[in-house]
Amino acid sequence: MSILIRNGTIVTATDLYKGDVFVENDRITTIGTSLSMPADRVIDASGKYVLPGGIDVHTHLDMPFGGTKSADDFESGTIAAAHGGTTSIVDFAIQYKGETLHHAWETWMTKAEGKAAIDYGFHMIITELTDQVEQEMDALVAQGVSSFKLFMAYPGVFMLDDASIFRALLRTGKNGGTICMHAENGGVIDVLVKKALAEGKTAPKYHALTRPARAEAEATHRAIALAEMADVPIYIVHLSAAEALEMVTEARDRGLPAYAETCPQYLFLSYDNYEEPGFEGAKYVMSPPLRPKATQDRLWRGLAFNDLQAISTDHCPFCMKEQKTLGEGDFSKIPNGAPGIETRMSLVYDGGVRTGRISLNRFVELTSTSPAKIFGLFPRKGTIAPGSDADIVVFDPNKSMTLSARTHHMKVDYNPYEGRDVTGVTDTVLSRGRVIIDGGKFVGKAGAGAFIKRLTRS
Ligand SMILES: [Zn+2]
Repeated sequence: MSILIRNGTIVTATDLYKGDVFVENDRITTIGTSLSMPADRVIDASGKYVLPGGIDVHTHLDMPFGGTKSADDFESGTIAAAHGGTTSIVDFAIQYKGETLHHAWETWMTKAEGKAAIDYGFHMIITELTDQVEQEMDALVAQGVSSFKLFMAYPGVFMLDDASIFRALLRTGKNGGTICMHAENGGVIDVLVKKALAEGKTAPKYHALTRPARAEAEATHRAIALAEMADVPIYIVHLSAAEALEMVTEARDRGLPAYAETCPQYLFLSYDNYEEPGFEGAKYVMSPPLRPKATQDRLWRGLAFNDLQAISTDHCPFCMKEQKTLGEGDFSKIPNGAPGIETRMSLVYDGGVRTGRISLNRFVELTSTSPAKIFGLFPRKGTIAPGSDADIVVFDPNKSMTLSARTHHMKVDYNPYEGRDVTGVTDTVLSRGRVIIDGGKFVGKAGAGAFIKRLTRS
């Protein structure tokens, strides 16, 4: 099978030029101008951008939470991702207490196999660090699960103490893995939640009001300090607060390998959404919570100046019906998370590139190249180059669409951006040389996605 993509504007993290891309089987083999080799299919990309497929390194598909599970499984979630121009995800496998990491990995592999329509990898969430688990970390890194997520929040469930976090960090110094951190001070938050509930404050907005920005900043600072003492890099997930960004910026200014991602919800939504009438605020219950509107500009500046290196989604959808309603009358029981796997690329292009906040190259870097480099996928993925996987998005920068639950492909009954118009829409998507989105329609196959064995950091 061969495909020739002609007359597009090829965009990578560093280049922007008119050219043709020739794909043979699953790889890009040739890039040039006026390529004329015979191909099984020719795609005319004139007037469009040819981008490396989006890489979303923070998703939660088929994830159990408080007696329910996230509304998208690996089939619906990856098909929705493909519609939005994302061709690889890194999801999270969860080690529950008393279990081995290997058991967790197998459990999540089973969830994805035969279902995923795009390629996938896993970070491993460690909730209990025994000597045996430490050894298992090395084995997992060797098998391509080369990053781990630890929690400084959710005491009694996910939270690790500083000693365990420090041990895990030290271990990655030896095995080449990367630690990802959920940085919020869980002890403080739990006290504030109990206090609010005791005072009869039960509405969704109290989810945000009991998770102060300073609790995120304190944990971010502590996580970076622990990594500095262990002499290893660290990656802060879903950074939302300007106060936390200051901690990352300060560390990077000192030359430390501190990395952080933010998510579209923190760039386009704000605390004001929690004030929507009735129980509507539950749509936005996620951790960390949405912040004051003024934070958005700070985050955009962080993205533009490389204090933030990636935009992922933290896609963790729960329907309003029967799922979010578990927390009616008690905000602490609202399942945490919101959908976004499908809308990331268009939102960031429309709100970032079209407004001049970031360049087109930076857009590609933040949504594909930089996460690929940080998480051991580059140069197989994250760029358009000979030898790279043919994960390619033909993106129409002039086409508009309205984001809505009525038209999206995520299996969730609301869209946090309902009614928002965006310009810049995915047209055609290739996943390892197979067309999976054709003129906006899914033509791929559930189960065609493969597990990506990721490299260690170099
Ligand atoms: Zn998450």
